[in-house]
Formats: sequence, structure tokens, C-alpha cells
Amino acid sequence: MPTPLADFIHSARRLFVLTGAGCSTDSGIPDYRDADGQWKRTPPVNYQDFMGGEPTRQRYWARSLIGWPRFGQALPNGTHAALAALEARGQVEVLLTQNVDCLHQRAGSEAVIDLHGRLDQVRCMGCETRSDREAFQHTLLAANPGWETLEAGIAPDGDADLENVDFSAFNVPACPHCGGILKPDVVFFGENVPRARVDAVHAHLQNADAVLVVGSSLMVYSGYRFVQAAAKAGLPVAALNLGRTRADDLLTLKVEQPCAPALSFLLPATA
Ligand SMILES: [Zn+2]
Repeated sequence: MPTPLADFIHSARRLFVLTGAGCSTDSGIPDYRDADGQWKRTPPVNYQDFMGGEPTRQRYWARSLIGWPRFGQALPNGTHAALAALEARGQVEVLLTQNVDCLHQRAGSEAVIDLHGRLDQVRCMGCETRSDREAFQHTLLAANPGWETLEAGIAPDGDADLENVDFSAFNVPACPHCGGILKPDVVFFGENVPRARVDAVHAHLQNADAVLVVGSSLMVYSGYRFVQAAAKAGLPVAALNLGRTRADDLLTLKVEQPCAPALSFLLPATA
């Protein structure tokens, strides 16, 4: 039986899809926020703290060293597959994701903009060289023997819930080219999304005829502003999210269900 969500999707020609942490929870990457949009855990690292202090960088990279293996091995789930199938049907103008896990790409989506960057890359803040996070794991381990044996829970931003540890002995490798500060190529809290990326997203919004939000509470302004702009332009907006979203009063349709089953109608029927 067609659902209101299926009707909404079928009637759109060029969907602007915006996804958030709720897409990746089934892949074992936890959500930052609860159903009311409040923090479930310690907020992630702040940009000014990271750039301003070696202790913050020691803490971040130590936790990242431990969290990376599980994060790097996470696999796409049914939600990613359904949205890749939607793109294959030619209905996706762009898929804008707030996630940094690259699971949409791994599921086959191609028209993806990583609003907050991607965790599988490391960026030098001095010379702008990008390098591979998996390779950097070996650099981290070589500089910090024994740290990989610490156990901790995985966190949404790919680091780990590691507390009561003295991080002052942790060696943070510098850029091999210029000695600059190495940072994951993601937009931290307190950091702006690059202007060119924001402009590219707005250009896609101009081409879209509807907006579909999947698994995001839209509490972060960097994503919310596009829904605001869409509503202002008169585009219908549907949201599939467990719990409240910041844009609830702008929505044409709100579906409070787990993402993967609600979108499973997009997948080819299995024999
Ligand atoms: Zn450098």
C-alpha cells in the first residue's frame, strides 16, 4: 500500500535529499542527539580548542586512534541503499549529507556533497595537503605504541569515548611536508562550512522541486538553513526522522519512523 512518504517521493522529479546521523545508526555509528534534539553525550571537539591547544589535539587524536578501526569498517545499511536506488532512478538532484562517514558513496550514491567534510581524509592546516586517514593510522600507531590496546566506545565523529586517561604523553604527528597542524578533513563545531560548498548546495536547491530530509533533527544551522531556504522558495519538504526536528513547522510531511524500513519500498523486490 502506498504510504504518504512514497507518494511524496514518487511525485517529485528532482529531489534535494538532506541526510544526518539517523542514516548511519544502523551501521553502528551512534547519533549525537536524542529524540528532543538534545546532546546525548559530551559534545564533540570545538575548532578553536583544537587549533589553539596541543592538549586538545592530543586528546582528539588519541581517541581517534582507538575509534578509527571500527569507524573505518562500518558498512552502509538499508537507508544508504534505498537512497542510492533513488538516485539510480534519476530522481536525485543532490544528496547533501551532514555525516562524515562516506557511507552514501560506499552504497553507490554519486551526487553527494559532504557538507561537513569526510573523516577518511586528513588535512594539513598549514599547506592544505590532503592525505588518507587509513595511512595516518599507521603513523599514529608508530608514534604511540601501546595506545591501540585501550578499549573505548565508538563516538559519532569517529573518535572514542575515552575518559580518565592522561593524554599528555600522546605524540601528535605534524605534517611531513611543512610541520603544520594535522586535522581531520571535517568541519568541527565552531568552524564554518567552506563558502564554495555552501554556494554549490544553493545552486542544487535552485534545480530541485522538493526536499527530503532523512535521519536528521536539523539542530545544526549549517544544514537547517537549506531547509529554511527551500521552504521560503515554496518547495515541499518531507522529513523522515525519529523525534523532533528544528524544521517541524516548515514541513509538508513528517514521518516518525526508523529510516530503513520506511524507505525499503525504493529497493528492488527480492525474489
Ligand atoms: Zn603541511
